[in-house]
Amino acid sequence: MGKPTGFMEFERAVLKKEKAEERIKHFKEFESVFTREETKIQGARCMDCGIPFCHGDTGCPVKNYIPEWNDLIYNGHWKEALDNLHTTNNFPEFTGRLCPAPCESACTLGINEKPVSIKAIERTIIEKGFKDGHVKPRKPHVLSGKKVAVVGSGPSGLAAAQQLARAGHTVTVFEKNERPGGLLRYGIPDFKMEKSILERRLKQMEAEGVQFKTKINVGRDIQARELIEKYDALILAGGSERPRDIQLPGRELNGVYFAMEFLTLQNKINAGEKVGTVINAKGKNVVVLGGGDTGSDCVGTANRQGAKSVTQLEIMPMPAEVRPYNTPWPYWPLIIRTSSSHEEGVVRRWSVNTKEFRGNEKGELTALLCTEVNFEDGKFIDVPKSQFELPAELVLIAAGFLHPEKKGLIDELVSLGMALDPRGNVKAEFGEDEDNHDNRVGSKRAHETSLSKVFACGDMRRGQSLVVWAIAEGRKCGASVHKYLTEVTADESK
Ligand SMILES: Cc1cc2nc3c(=O)[nH]c(=O)nc-3n(C[C@H](O)[C@H](O)[C@H](O)COP(=O)(O)OP(=O)(O)OC[C@H]3O[C@@H](n4cnc5c(N)ncnc54)[C@H](O)[C@@H]3O)c2cc1C
Ligand code: SF4
Repeated sequence: MGKPTGFMEFERAVLKKEKAEERIKHFKEFESVFTREETKIQGARCMDCGIPFCHGDTGCPVKNYIPEWNDLIYNGHWKEALDNLHTTNNFPEFTGRLCPAPCESACTLGINEKPVSIKAIERTIIEKGFKDGHVKPRKPHVLSGKKVAVVGSGPSGLAAAQQLARAGHTVTVFEKNERPGGLLRYGIPDFKMEKSILERRLKQMEAEGVQFKTKINVGRDIQARELIEKYDALILAGGSERPRDIQLPGRELNGVYFAMEFLTLQNKINAGEKVGTVINAKGKNVVVLGGGDTGSDCVGTANRQGAKSVTQLEIMPMPAEVRPYNTPWPYWPLIIRTSSSHEEGVVRRWSVNTKEFRGNEKGELTALLCTEVNFEDGKFIDVPKSQFELPAELVLIAAGFLHPEKKGLIDELVSLGMALDPRGNVKAEFGEDEDNHDNRVGSKRAHETSLSKVFACGDMRRGQSLVVWAIAEGRKCGASVHKYLTEVTADESK
């Protein structure tokens, strides 16, 4: 514990941000990191709890050793703090930017004070680590001679690949898109994480021996069966790509798109990639359907493109402003969340259902017909006489994701006997420390599917989730594959 009285002496600080009216003029990141002195003061607020809830089951999914690195930075041991952070998290620069920080809502200080600024400290440690040249490739000393294929290069596939390459296995990552990164590259906007942050990590992974094969759609350009035959293990990390649609009259109108169509295009344009069609919000009334992360990213992108107005509609009632009784500390509180994109300008409305997309004779979207709803006994009931029309020339559907795309890879593996869970995700064994009986496939290995030597992790297995969960899953899956490969080697040597 850096300073026993720190939590009484110092106030919580957050990272400085460029002003909203300035940052919407560009797509770049707009948050700075702490100075070393600021980090020391923030680290001093940590009480080094006997039971660190930040690290516990309701806190950090990768189980970062938060009190330890708070102490290390307080005492000026930056390199050791970085090493400590890397023992649990392959990519703290991703989580330091993107994580909703369940560790902070579980922090003991949060009971009667503002929690420790854990996420900002994490980001500062890793950024200083890169700046000081401490993040270097960690090549394996010995190669195992075993080959692993990973399908998908999002955070789960990357974490599994890096762990396995460092353990000495020869890892090839197959990615259907032009470049690796999954949603980190094509979903999450640059203003939340610039792609150079991804590039420097990919460079490290390549130097560690990971091979990336892009523009290969497994199940279409190459059969999964071929990978099972040629490799010693196959990891499925293809994400949860099927978006939930809102099928209403007028859905076919020009101007109604899925959020990912819109966000991917802007990310490609920022990266200088060639795009065919362009969906642009400039001068338009934009309505975003769905109140989550993806919807908030659409708000930020539409404002940067110069939308005339941006409205975000959510069918659920407005959440509480303060922690409600049903999610007490240290649980993740169901409260209203205002993202940096919301700060930049949006009208947010809750308890609103969309009834119809309306258009003109040219087939172009002009408005949305909506109604207010009450949520009663698990059902949405229209409020009488509450219908209203919202002018809209661009509607972005951000209503979540259902499960992986089935066509190709999943259909092929299902035909070989791979089971899916009731939601349509890949069914794979949980670890011994987890408790989801729906996912038992009868394997003794965590993350193994019902097909022997085929493993799964990330959104493809757990459904739409978070970057930090993807990393946690990728690491656990990597560990399980390593155990499997070394057990196989041991058997062979008998
Ligand atoms: C717009 C948006 C914003 C988000 N913002 C945040 C955020 O701020 N914070 C946060 O924590 N989480 C956020 N999330 C969620 C987070 O991005 C995901 O939970 C995470 O990326 C899942 O990682 P993954 O590796 O499982 O899958 P993905 O990142 O989806 O990567 C899967 C990859 O597999 C590839 N693939 C699929 N099938 C095949 C195939 N057959 N052959 C070859 N390649 C294939 C895909 O092309 C893709 O590149 C956001 C999600 C979206 C959509
Ligand atoms: S719960 Fe908060 S105060 Fe306690 S160890 Fe974790 S970060 Fe420090």
